[in-house]
Amino acid sequence: MNDHLRELYQQVILDHNQYPKNFKKLDNATCNSEGYNPLCGDRISLAVELAGNVIQDIGFQGSGCAISKASASILTTMVKGKTIQEAEKLFNMFQNVITRDVGTDVDDMELGKLIVFAGVRQFPMRVKCATLAWHTLQAALHHQNEVVTTE
Ligand code: ZN
Repeated sequence: MNDHLRELYQQVILDHNQYPKNFKKLDNATCNSEGYNPLCGDRISLAVELAGNVIQDIGFQGSGCAISKASASILTTMVKGKTIQEAEKLFNMFQNVITRDVGTDVDDMELGKLIVFAGVRQFPMRVKCATLAWHTLQAALHHQNEVVTTE
């Protein structure tokens, strides 16, 4: 990771950890899901308000490390207003970013803020923190109400 990306990574993670977006309860949630990462102790509960196929609103609550919280915060800003299919496409791109070399098979421009999570790749333990919110979103959208764990 170059210095620029490392700086960006730290700044974005710290910002979202300190001032998480959409950190709220939803009054009109149509689906909910809980996620748990036992390796780190991260817990997140995610609520989604679907209008047809569109994610009208989304909120998360819970407690965990800075990476899990920042990832959940960024997730909510990116999928809000998107369709379920678009959200799943983002999830796939996100998984590419944190498991492969960026720039080889993913479109950097489309990634937006997700690119900062490329830094997580060097720390396999942290990959689970970063993906927890995304797995929890998948479960919510597919109406699986059991607790998702990263194990
Ligand atoms: Zn964590």
